[in-house]
Amino acid sequence: MKIYIDGKYYDERSARISVFDHGVLYGDGIFEGIRAYNGRVFKLQEHLERLFCSAKSILLEIPMSKAELAAAVVQTCRRNRLGEGYIRLLVTRGVGPMGLSPNRCKNPSVVIIAGKIQLYPPELYKRGMEIVTVATTRNLHSALNPAIKSLNYLNNIMAKIEANLAGCEEAIMLNAEGFVAECTGDNLFIIRNGQLCTPPLSAGALHGITRQVVMEIAAESGLAVSEPNLTRYDLFNAEECFLTGTGAEIVPIVKIDGRVIGVGRPGAVTQKLVTQYHTLTNACGEPIYE
Ligand code: PMP
Repeated sequence: MKIYIDGKYYDERSARISVFDHGVLYGDGIFEGIRAYNGRVFKLQEHLERLFCSAKSILLEIPMSKAELAAAVVQTCRRNRLGEGYIRLLVTRGVGPMGLSPNRCKNPSVVIIAGKIQLYPPELYKRGMEIVTVATTRNLHSALNPAIKSLNYLNNIMAKIEANLAGCEEAIMLNAEGFVAECTGDNLFIIRNGQLCTPPLSAGALHGITRQVVMEIAAESGLAVSEPNLTRYDLFNAEECFLTGTGAEIVPIVKIDGRVIGVGRPGAVTQKLVTQYHTLTNACGEPIYE
């Protein structure tokens, strides 16, 4: 595998960044997880938009334009003969002296890894997943805004650990007010009275690209879509529930905190959205080979 670091390609074993990079020392940096399907990079512009928004909010100057970054992502896929897989794009604050101040980190680093994806087992998509609510709440907007896809994912990792300790793969995270925010690496949706609902971004959800695509597909096929605040009660009494994320795509949820959701099997609305989503992922995106 060839890894892109600041304009050059390195073998997997020699791809390195400094231990003095503030990305390593403090989790000071940002990232995106992107998918390639069928020789195309899916929703690349949307991922770049979000990356630049994350950068702006932490006063990190990305040393490349969006067009240059897009070209580097596509080029890294090509170098790795990747037509199908997962791309991790990160920008670190760069090397600086120990001490929190980012002012002395003069050169942010750009890293692009394009490889295979580790998916949940196919069985899980067929039967549906069981998840739990965990005690770790989502970061407050006023502390570390959940809209920033930062290299500091400890909030999410702590929640993931709690889910794993409870024998589950994913965790529902509430915000400090007790409303549902999202999962550790996925957004959450329910079907209620035949309508699609997902927590608003103000509840602490990431502006997920898959979330956006699913909302658009749903609206186009005449499904009403809304973003109300949701409580655990709303989840327990939902007709269907599913998670969305670039890596996981659409995961049906059949049990939450021991309560069976709907009939305990992936629901019809969820399954239709899965089919529509796959049709889209295979048909559009930035071409890798031309
Ligand atoms: N929430 C969090 C916390 C995430 O890290 C992610 C991305 N893995 C998502 C939601 C889903 O976002 P996207 O659909 O853009 O991958």
